[in-house]
Amino acid sequence: MLALAAVLLSGMAQGATPDAAFARDFGDDFLDRYWAHNTDAAVSVGYYKYADRLVVPDAAARRRYLAFLDASLKKLSAIDAKTLDAGHRTDWSILKSRFDQERWYLTVYRPWEWDPSDYNVADAFAKLSNTPYAPAEERLRAISGRLSNVPAYYAAARAAVKHPVREYTQLAIEQNTGALDVFGREFEAMVASSKLSARERTRLQSRVAAARTAIADYVDFLKRVDADQGADTRSFRIGSKLYEQKFALDIQSGESAAHLYERALVEKELLHTRMAELAGELWPKYMAAVPKPADRLEAVRAVIDKIAENHVARDQFVPSVKALMPRLERWVTDHGLLTLDPTRPLEVREMPPYQRGFSMANLQSSGPYDPTAQSWYNVSPLDAYTPGEAESFLREYNDYTMQVLSIHEGVPGHYVQLMYSNKSPSRIKAVFGNGATVEGWAVYSERMMMESGWGDNAPEMWLMYYKWYLRAVCNTILDYQVHTQALTERGAIDLLRREAFQSETEATGKWRRARLSAVQLATYFSGYAAIHDFRERLKQEQGAGFDLKRFHEQFLSYGSAPVGVIKELMRPR
Ligand code: ZN
Ligand code: ZN
Repeated sequence: MLALAAVLLSGMAQGATPDAAFARDFGDDFLDRYWAHNTDAAVSVGYYKYADRLVVPDAAARRRYLAFLDASLKKLSAIDAKTLDAGHRTDWSILKSRFDQERWYLTVYRPWEWDPSDYNVADAFAKLSNTPYAPAEERLRAISGRLSNVPAYYAAARAAVKHPVREYTQLAIEQNTGALDVFGREFEAMVASSKLSARERTRLQSRVAAARTAIADYVDFLKRVDADQGADTRSFRIGSKLYEQKFALDIQSGESAAHLYERALVEKELLHTRMAELAGELWPKYMAAVPKPADRLEAVRAVIDKIAENHVARDQFVPSVKALMPRLERWVTDHGLLTLDPTRPLEVREMPPYQRGFSMANLQSSGPYDPTAQSWYNVSPLDAYTPGEAESFLREYNDYTMQVLSIHEGVPGHYVQLMYSNKSPSRIKAVFGNGATVEGWAVYSERMMMESGWGDNAPEMWLMYYKWYLRAVCNTILDYQVHTQALTERGAIDLLRREAFQSETEATGKWRRARLSAVQLATYFSGYAAIHDFRERLKQEQGAGFDLKRFHEQFLSYGSAPVGVIKELMRPR
């Protein structure tokens, strides 16, 4: 009797139900250990328990982290995912992908060796001094503790960097030089007005001085490495093999990069054909006096340039975005696309000054650990622009593309996805959300709105929507060709300018971004294509039984899980 009871009890303790075992092994305790290894990422999600700790990125830390990943993977594979309920099963898959991905970065991809911009302490210090999550003194003490490891941090960086990529070396020089600003005048004022004791203050100041020296030394070291290496630098192109592996691990769509690339090429041709038709249709209205060029792409560009003249006055930009949001919300509801939460309308506001200058609009969501749970659609006012800059900006975000932008960032794009994601109470989903799912949904939501007749099916609206969507398609082509096919700068600029109708500034910026990242530029089209394909297949399978609204709501109910995982959950085999 007793022996039997003991067996039963130990069975219970090991997790009588797989769901209980999963919740026990991968709950808040697990995340706490994860953050203890990743103290920078912890600060960025608003988990401040380890704010005073900076992990020194040396060989010992990499060994410790690898052991942590291996132990976590072992625990995870002890649980049979098929026996978990839907919520835990998604979390299980997200963690599995995450551990595999991080393991591969650490052991195969090894950016810690060839990407010197991997080493930069600025972000966490900036967030700790700018975010009033606690009284200034408490934050300054955390900063002081974190500062004590900065010299060791950069010593480890110098030891790790071997044969780096020149583009990343130069980026690291720029960014680390900028990092010194974090301890500039505002920080000094914060220290001066704080109630730190004289001893604390002196210690903090000497640590700031030591950190400044360490950062400056790292910059000097990188300049020397760059000069010594000369032309013998590691290529920024990662090659087909690594690209496919990275694509599989980062994107998790269940299809190969080569397949997506082929698809993007076909999509580009299709878009050119559609856009040429629309340009032909619009030519008499906008270009009547001008002879139509024989080159179809030139004709498209001419019409796009003309239509872009329809834009609001600079002081009307933010108000007109504000006025658009309730219209988008009503449309989504009236056309049965999704259920919106009427108690949570999207708040549009002027972008706070410290965020300006990077992008013209963003969706700012509260971090997973932020109790305020407030989100905003930030739109940059054009105050800082010269008349010329404002004009070029307003032409880019004209009456038509401004609508696509608000669909993408707001309703039914990022904001709605986030609203649904927040309803699933899983920290794992909030913390380890998949980038291709998030961006793919936003790109898909643009198409969904156009299909439902948004913009009265006006040819101008479709043409501008296609230009916008073509950017996502060409991002994929560019990224793939840069990393696996030795695309030259001239080839890249030609693709973006002539075939995607982009401005010089936009094209040059994109070429730079393609050399400083791999796979990220493919997330937009990849996520979109996976969602769109999946929807079309379900439509075919379910025929008259297919319900668009139900599809959208069910898809979003899995949070930001990888599309491949959501597909499996929505069509159990
Ligand atoms: Zn104008
Ligand atoms: Zn986006």
